[in-house]
Amino acid sequence: MKKYRNVNEPLRLKDCDRETAEALERELERQRHGLEMIASENFVSRAVLEALGSVATNKYSEGYPGNRYYGGCTNIDSIERLAIARAQQLFGAEHVNVQPLSGAPANVAVYSALLQPGDTVLGMDLSHGGHLTHGHPVTWMSKLFTFARYKTDPTTGLIDFDQVRALAKQHRPKLILVGYSAYTREIDYVQFKQIADEVGALTMADIAHIAGLIAGGVMQNPTPLFDVITTTTHKTLRGPRGGMIMCKDTHAAAIDKAVFPGFQGGPHENNVAAKAVAFKEALAPSFKTYAQQILKNTKVLEKIFSDAGITICFNKTDNHMLLLDVTSIGLTGKHTEQLLDTVGITVNKNVIPDDPRKPMDPSGIRIGTPALTTRGFDERDMALVGETIVNLLKSPNDTSVCTRAQDAVRALTDAHPLYPDLTYTT
Ligand SMILES: *Cc1c(COP(=O)(O)O)cnc(C)c1O
Repeated sequence: MKKYRNVNEPLRLKDCDRETAEALERELERQRHGLEMIASENFVSRAVLEALGSVATNKYSEGYPGNRYYGGCTNIDSIERLAIARAQQLFGAEHVNVQPLSGAPANVAVYSALLQPGDTVLGMDLSHGGHLTHGHPVTWMSKLFTFARYKTDPTTGLIDFDQVRALAKQHRPKLILVGYSAYTREIDYVQFKQIADEVGALTMADIAHIAGLIAGGVMQNPTPLFDVITTTTHKTLRGPRGGMIMCKDTHAAAIDKAVFPGFQGGPHENNVAAKAVAFKEALAPSFKTYAQQILKNTKVLEKIFSDAGITICFNKTDNHMLLLDVTSIGLTGKHTEQLLDTVGITVNKNVIPDDPRKPMDPSGIRIGTPALTTRGFDERDMALVGETIVNLLKSPNDTSVCTRAQDAVRALTDAHPLYPDLTYTT
């Protein structure tokens, strides 16, 4: 009888699947030698990578710690309890569910826990920084619920609370949604809570982008004030790709039921283990330094771009990203994204508030500093990054400027090595 390959054979990825190993190696090289400036991306620690690739991926554990539908969950329970306890400590949350597979499923689970089909949700206009999962017409959620939209004030760049209040009174939403993907300013959670109380709405903050800044103490924390908080764990929080829901105890049963069995099956416990590791890292004092450095680095870019005559949307930044209107220097978002790509700088094109252009070629780019900050970039490095970008955008057709930019990217990435001992092919 032919013997099946045994899991105990000492085979590494490179020996059993050369194609995948080589593709991963090329991706590792791309991450090493490029400037990653997509605002939602980051680099996890080796410890987080190790937990992600651990044997916890083998285990089925439908249910919650102490109450599972499968045997053999004792160790998985310990892991999930660690993740929950650390998240509670990090954000001051009463109840935490660490099982959502990502940010979008977390949001869907909350809607289903708190709303009935046909209910109204008041959230931010998508071109002003709201997320797809906040009721974009392309999502299934937009068929189930009615979404009303507030905007930012074009003069102050801040959320227009007169409008929020007026819309809340007009639409009587069941839920008021706060938390954004491209909005760069601090959020006045107290005002949102007041308005929600006036109309009897629940409050939800989707802190997907800024969770790490809140955990690091440099942005305000809505957790004590709001009914429900959703987040991803892989953006500024610097954990594995995943989601999480935090809430008041009064919503705990509904939220847990909505995640499982409402929407999901077995949780990805390797991912939960990696969340536990990332939360431990976020509780360490050095995480505060990281969060502070993100803000300093973003401010350096803000000054360089505004000195270069590039319009900063929402007037300024209070967080880890900038939304730039590049039509102010005669470019488009798509062209700018492509131009920066040619020298190894990765950003994304992005709509700006009430963008007259189309989403596939909008007026803006979004640019963030978390990933480079994790690599150890400081204000001096960031000044070089900013100048390199400005020079390129000002002379898009000058090959010598392009060559100089490529050299600068190489020098900066060489100075801040990424996963130096990691390899998939040797
Ligand atoms: C990124 C993001 C999400 C979605 O997270 P995924 O993990 O990509 O599903 C949800 N809400 C906001 C505000 C986000 O920025």
